[in-house]
Amino acid sequence: MRSDRPDLRARLGLKYNTETYRRDVGGMDVIIHCHHYNSRVQRVVEGSAEIDGKAILVSTAEAVFSEYLGRNLRDADTSADMWAMAECLYAHLGYGRLDLSSVEGGEIEAQSSHFVEGWSASFGEERGPVCSFTEGYLQGVIHRITGELVQVREVECMVTGASRCRFQVEHGREEPVVTYSKASFELPTRADEGYVRSANVDEVAIVEAIVSMQIEGNDDGLIPAFSVYLANTPADFYNLLALRFIEAMAALGREKTARRLLVNAGEICAMNTFRGIMNSTEWEGLVQPMIGEQSDKLHGLMAVSNALGWGNWHIRRLVPGVEVEIESLNGYEALGLRELRGAANRPQCCMLTGVAAGLMELVYGEGTLDERFGTFAPVEDRCICCDDSVCHFHAERVTS
Ligand SMILES: [Zn+2]
Ligand SMILES: [Zn+2]
Repeated sequence: MRSDRPDLRARLGLKYNTETYRRDVGGMDVIIHCHHYNSRVQRVVEGSAEIDGKAILVSTAEAVFSEYLGRNLRDADTSADMWAMAECLYAHLGYGRLDLSSVEGGEIEAQSSHFVEGWSASFGEERGPVCSFTEGYLQGVIHRITGELVQVREVECMVTGASRCRFQVEHGREEPVVTYSKASFELPTRADEGYVRSANVDEVAIVEAIVSMQIEGNDDGLIPAFSVYLANTPADFYNLLALRFIEAMAALGREKTARRLLVNAGEICAMNTFRGIMNSTEWEGLVQPMIGEQSDKLHGLMAVSNALGWGNWHIRRLVPGVEVEIESLNGYEALGLRELRGAANRPQCCMLTGVAAGLMELVYGEGTLDERFGTFAPVEDRCICCDDSVCHFHAERVTS
C-alpha cells in the first residue's frame, strides 16, 4: 500500500465559513454525518424493491467523486500521484483505507470501511457485500484518472466476516457517467436575529471548538469521534442521491413514501448521532458544563449541528417537552436542490425535517430510542425551495 502523502493531504485543508456555517474541503462543500445515517440512507435507497436503488447510489457516487478527485489533481501529477490522491481523498474524508496498488491489474482491497462499521452497528451481519458507495467511488476515480468507463464489483466484504473488502474491475462498460449541473442560486438575505437562545449555552464557543477539531481520517481512514464514526461527504452526493431516489419513486407513484423514508432516516440519525455526542468525552468537556436545564441540551445540540456543515439553523419558538419551531437560513438540502432542480412546489428538506423531531425525542423523550421514535411529528411548512425566505420546521409531541 502506498504510504500516506502529507503533500497530497495538504490539498484537502478545511475552509470553514463562519457566516454560512459551511465546510469546504478540497473545493467541495462537505457535510458531516455519522455511520448510522450514511448506512441508513443507503438502506432506504437500496431497500425499495420497485427501483434499482443500488444503481442510483453507485452512479451518484461515481459522478460526484469523479468530479471531486478532479478538483484535487494538478497538471504536474504523475499517474502514481493520482492513484495516491484517490486513496488519500477516500481516507481523509473518513470512508476507510483503500489499497489501489493493484488497480491496473483489476484488483482493489479495503482494510477498513465506514459503511461496514455503519451497517454492522445498525443492521448486523449481512449475507452479501454492502460497500456500494465504494464501488461508485472507485468507478469515479478510475474514470477520472484513466478516462475508462468500468464497472467495479465488490466480491468479498468485511460485513460478511471477510478479513478485507475486495473489489474487481470489469472493463467494456458503455453506460456513461451521470452528469449533473448546478445553476447558481442567491440565498435570501436574512439576519439570524430574534431566535430563542439560552443564557447558559455559548453557541459560538461550541461551534469554534468543533471546527478546530481535526475531523479527518486516522491511520485507518476512519473518524471515530463523539462515540460514532463520522465522515465528510459532499452535499452534492446527498442531494443528488435524494433527488434521484425521489424521482425514481415518484415515477411509480410513490413519492410520498420516498420522502417519508428519508425523513425517518433523518429522525433516527438525529437520535443515534446526538445520543452518541451527548455520551462522548468531547461533549462532557465542552458542552456539559454549560447545561443548566434540559432545554440547554437542545441548544447545545443545535450548535453542534451548525458546526457539521448542515447550514445555519436556530430555534424560533420552544415549548419545552411539547413543541419546537426551527428556522434554517441556508440548509444544504435547500441550497443544493435549488441549484440542481430550481424552484419546487413543495418543501424539500427531508433530513432536517426528521432531525427536528429526532432532537426533541432525544432531549425530551423517554425509554429506548425505538420507543421514542415517532413520538414527535415533524413538518417543514415553508422552504427556500418554494421561494420562502427560510426553511421552517415544526415538531410537536404526538398526543394519543
Ligand atoms: Zn465491504
Ligand atoms: Zn427547506
